[in-house]
Amino acid sequence: ELHPLLERSFVPVQAASSNPNNGPVLRIMQWNVLAQALSTGDDNFVLCPGKALDWENRKLHLLEEILRYQPHILCLEEVDNFSFFQESLINFGYMGIFYPKPDSPCMWVENNTGPDGCAVLYSTKHLILSESNSIVLQEESGLDTNQVSVICKFQLKGDNSKKSVHEFCVAVTHLKAKKGFDEMRFQQGKHLLKYLDKYSTIPLFICGDFNAEPTEAVYDLFQKSKFGLVSVYTHLNKEGKEPPYTTWKIRGEFGGNKENCKTIDYIWHTKNGINVKSVLAFPSGEAIGENRLPSMTYPSDHLSLACDFQLV
Ligand code: NDP
Ligand code: CA
Repeated sequence: ELHPLLERSFVPVQAASSNPNNGPVLRIMQWNVLAQALSTGDDNFVLCPGKALDWENRKLHLLEEILRYQPHILCLEEVDNFSFFQESLINFGYMGIFYPKPDSPCMWVENNTGPDGCAVLYSTKHLILSESNSIVLQEESGLDTNQVSVICKFQLKGDNSKKSVHEFCVAVTHLKAKKGFDEMRFQQGKHLLKYLDKYSTIPLFICGDFNAEPTEAVYDLFQKSKFGLVSVYTHLNKEGKEPPYTTWKIRGEFGGNKENCKTIDYIWHTKNGINVKSVLAFPSGEAIGENRLPSMTYPSDHLSLACDFQLV
């Protein structure tokens, strides 16, 4: 029933380091998959055909986008159908961890399939999950917020016999949405970075829907963190700027339709121990189409982010 999925391609990036090391190359994907309950509830994507939002259709495009790129590690937000991802992807060698938000807005939608949350899925053929933690992000005061993070430590398979073991950490998060919550996002980011302190000796990836544009304080916090974090899509352009959008949607709002086109999703990585090889480019506005996302050719209002990196 749907149209062919949007075509995208990986673009090589100028390796920051000229290190000729032939370490293993892994692919990581970050994606806010759009909770099914929200897509038909609060979001009000007035220009998106109902057929495209119908779960029986949409789930096929979600799976197709993932399997087209076959990441070794998949970081997802707004997952309110984890069993679908888990049960489908297990056939392709993936295992996963899911952690729901304490008070998910999905629960207020009729016929919901449970709370939404963050998930990490990984290829068991390539990786061993050596540690995982799921946390509720806190405000500065120590109070819990409604946002979470899943943090995984991985080891490359086949490394055991060698002297050096390739280990790295991947965290996924979905920070508080909406205008006026800059300070809460900042505090949530601060809490996550503090939590990740214990992984400061190994390469680190932090993936997520930060709900914050590059001008926000939480972005600055990550960019200036002591981990030496770089947002991977800044490798795509010469000036080191973020792309113009990672989400592009039109919602029906009081007083008319509102178009929203911005960069709020990121894959942060440490410079130490990682060489970025390529990045999955974003489709043009023309390719996305004038009714924007989601659509008959793409199943979420957020585009997936993906990159190939080499552990050095
Ligand atoms: P957030 O503010 O973080 O937002 C939750 C979701 O809403 C996000 O996934 C976000 O998507 C999406 N969103 C952002 N902007 C809009 C928008 N303009 N229109 C529609 N959706 C949008 O939520 P919280 O975690 O703070 O949870 C909301 C709270 O409100 C919970 O306590 C929940 O129980 C409560 N609630 C109560 C309802 C009721 O009927 N009483 C109804 C709904 C929620 P993205 O990240 O992609 O921007
Ligand atoms: Ca959303």
